[in-house]
Amino acid sequence: MVAEVNTRIRRDDEVTVIAGRDRGLRGKVIKVLPTSGRVLVSKVNMVKRHARQSANSAGGILEKEAPIALSNIQFFCPNCQTGVRLGMKQLEDGRKVRRCRKCGEVQDQ
Ligand SMILES: [Zn+2]
Repeated sequence: MVAEVNTRIRRDDEVTVIAGRDRGLRGKVIKVLPTSGRVLVSKVNMVKRHARQSANSAGGILEKEAPIALSNIQFFCPNCQTGVRLGMKQLEDGRKVRRCRKCGEVQDQ
């Protein structure tokens, strides 16, 4: 059974960084990269890129998000105000929703 918590992270989720350089930061998931087990999170794991001067840009140093490993982030539960693991719950209509394993709050509409 695949019970890995981080595979439940989706785009637009708010997550918190639990390990690495940006530990403690929070951001919104921009993109999930399932094949590499990484996600792009806004304002997390920023890297500086030197951009060459071009017709459209003046060049200089640009800051951009780099993918961060799923194992370094956790879903941020607004109720618990902390990073949590997610579980699944089946609703009466058959839909499966994610819920916080700590407080039990359902995270999907
Ligand atoms: Zn919670």
